[in-house]
Amino acid sequence: MSPTPTTSTLVTNIAELVTNDPEADDRLGAIEDAALVVEGHEVAWVGRAVDAPAADQQVDAGGRAVIPGFVDSHSHLVFAGDRAAEFAARMAGEPYAAGGIRTTVTATRAATDEQLTSHVARLVDEMRRQGTTTVEIKSGYGLTVHDEARSLAVARQFTEETTFLGAHVVPAGTTPEEYVALVTGRMLEACAPHARWVDAFCESGAFDADQSRAVLEAGAAAGLRGRLHANQLGPGPGVRLACELGLTAVDHCTYLTDEDVAALSESGTIATLLAGVEFSTRHPYPDARRLLDAGVTVALASDCNPGSCYTSSLPFCIALAVREMGMTPAEAVHAATAGGAAALDRDDVGALTPGKRADLVVLDAPTHVHLAYRPGVPLVSSTWVAGRPV
Ligand SMILES: [Zn+2]
Repeated sequence: MSPTPTTSTLVTNIAELVTNDPEADDRLGAIEDAALVVEGHEVAWVGRAVDAPAADQQVDAGGRAVIPGFVDSHSHLVFAGDRAAEFAARMAGEPYAAGGIRTTVTATRAATDEQLTSHVARLVDEMRRQGTTTVEIKSGYGLTVHDEARSLAVARQFTEETTFLGAHVVPAGTTPEEYVALVTGRMLEACAPHARWVDAFCESGAFDADQSRAVLEAGAAAGLRGRLHANQLGPGPGVRLACELGLTAVDHCTYLTDEDVAALSESGTIATLLAGVEFSTRHPYPDARRLLDAGVTVALASDCNPGSCYTSSLPFCIALAVREMGMTPAEAVHAATAGGAAALDRDDVGALTPGKRADLVVLDAPTHVHLAYRPGVPLVSSTWVAGRPV
């Protein structure tokens, strides 16, 4: 343990403090004219500024809003190259298909560990500057035992929330049967020590329900928790499979039947919506309103990846969710903070109540509403991780 004495910091003159306190009357547990005390890495106190206790040092938030740091529960940051030409072609009318992943696989295999690491570092820094304080990172652009394991080892340098996504797409030169056997066998064995989660892309053109189930069950047997990409490009069995297996989260959920929505609301599996993907592929947006009205917990995440969505910005995703998916600003901010934490099964982040990690974002705005009201504007004044500005 560090022998450094714990100092306390009072952050005061906060116009609006979003706590995400589940006991509060409103969804965000918002406190006006607020203050917050940080002790060491954690939040020690929140409340009205006039009631704040004394602390060793004081920071004046200058009438800005303070919200919990964003929890981005879905990203693919370990890759090389970019697919700007593919994006331009798509905007000129060519369709998006899952097979484009193979372009990135070729570039990723050719990159050194150092190149991959510095690229992830750049993207994580880009996320921090936009208020993201917890990020999940997947493998999935290696698709060999060696390249998947080293992708996860790179990701682990940046986060505990690493996800083995060997089942991203079937690589060229192998059959689906051979590849699923590899993913559930030697590849899993090499990757499990570097991963907390296992994932599969359950979609036509990628893996069907039986193959996805085999990957998730093998991952579970190796001690990994499950999550799933499903129902992105069309209706399919993935969402119901995720609910049946009791996975923590199922991601995309763009094309849902009434049965899918009922399964989500009954199972408690979190629906992670990735609005940047629909923006970048010109697909219809998922219907967040329908899910929220059915009692489903919704998370918003970036899906930052070089093919279908190369944004690292949760403020951008919040603006899209409000404008295009029927969410209120409060629901969208909640989904990008507390929702993301739930989707990673984390109870230490995603809220600013006593005992939580002091991950916070100071906004150059008086309320959280401005994140959607002022789209595209860099509103993050500062980002704090574990009690310190970064
Ligand atoms: Zn994804």
